Amino acid sequence: QAKRFGGDRIEPFRPAYKTIGAGRLQLESDLRRAFERSELSLAFQPIVDLAAETVAGFEALLRWEHPRRGTISPAEFIPIAENTGLIVSLGQFALEEAAKRLGDLHRATGDESFFMSVNISSRQLIRQDLIADVKSVLERYKLAPSVLKLELTESMVMDNPERSARLLARLRELGVGLSLDDFGTGHSSLAYLMRFPFDTLKIDQSFLRNNSQPQRPIILHSIVTMAHDLGLRVVAEGVESESDIVQLKQLNCEYAQSFAFSPPLNFEMARRLLVDRSASLKRAS
Ligand code: C2E
Ligand code: MG
Ligand code: MG
Ligand code: MG
Repeated sequence: QAKRFGGDRIEPFRPAYKTIGAGRLQLESDLRRAFERSELSLAFQPIVDLAAETVAGFEALLRWEHPRRGTISPAEFIPIAENTGLIVSLGQFALEEAAKRLGDLHRATGDESFFMSVNISSRQLIRQDLIADVKSVLERYKLAPSVLKLELTESMVMDNPERSARLLARLRELGVGLSLDDFGTGHSSLAYLMRFPFDTLKIDQSFLRNNSQPQRPIILHSIVTMAHDLGLRVVAEGVESESDIVQLKQLNCEYAQSFAFSPPLNFEMARRLLVDRSASLKRAS
């Protein structure tokens, strides 16, 4: 499946560290210094309106450009940041930078309907300051609350359901979007998860990639239908096959986020994609 939007692919990640022993300690201290050295940035992966095949928004994804080891995957450094408490400043950086860049994109296009989705970690969720941080970026970058979406996973909210439910309710009152990330990797039912005020469900890519079980269309059908019945919008992450895309369109699944449409882009590429919209919509397949 060729990608449908233009733009150069960001260099693929290579595993640079073992997350045990001395390598991990080295990574920790490098990560501390990465801030001061401005080695951290965000990449922006388009979230595509499936019916129109246009860009509806982006997910902000942290990138670490290590001077010697090259790009290190967030899958590798986020868990370490979580364990050391560094995740709080990392998360604040991501929120701040994502909001700022969204404001830039709105100004560049004259269109303020694009949204930005930001991943929140469990450590951030248990800090009371999250609400204040969110309010602050909305005000400073003059964003309508609805164009900022926070992504949380099932395991995060299930760690402390009561507290999470209260906090998410307050975030919803602010008007920001709340997406349930990586759905399909945990054990809770969607019905149970609806006690949290999510408005969007992201079907995990492990479900949509390299998954050839014959019942898959049936399961996909029931997830999307149930999500819609519960009033949720749906993002299909990592959807690859044309038959899945066709099925998702038939089910009126709202969005797709996948290398089949576009990999994560640096800011300049994301900006160009929006400014040069007519060119970007030609399918590359
Ligand atoms: P996620 O939130 O589920 O983000 C989606 C991941 O799937 C991204 O990986 C994205 O590049 C990848 N992806 C999207 N479409 C495809 C596809 O078609 N094929 C394949 N193979 N992959 C696809 P990435 O950027 O490596 O991020 C990994 C995870 O790191 C994220 O998963 C998220 O859990 C975490 N992460 C990234 N940025 C942040 C952040 O700012 N804060 C926190 N707390 N976590 C972050
Ligand atoms: Mg996410
Ligand atoms: Mg996800
Ligand atoms: Mg994921």
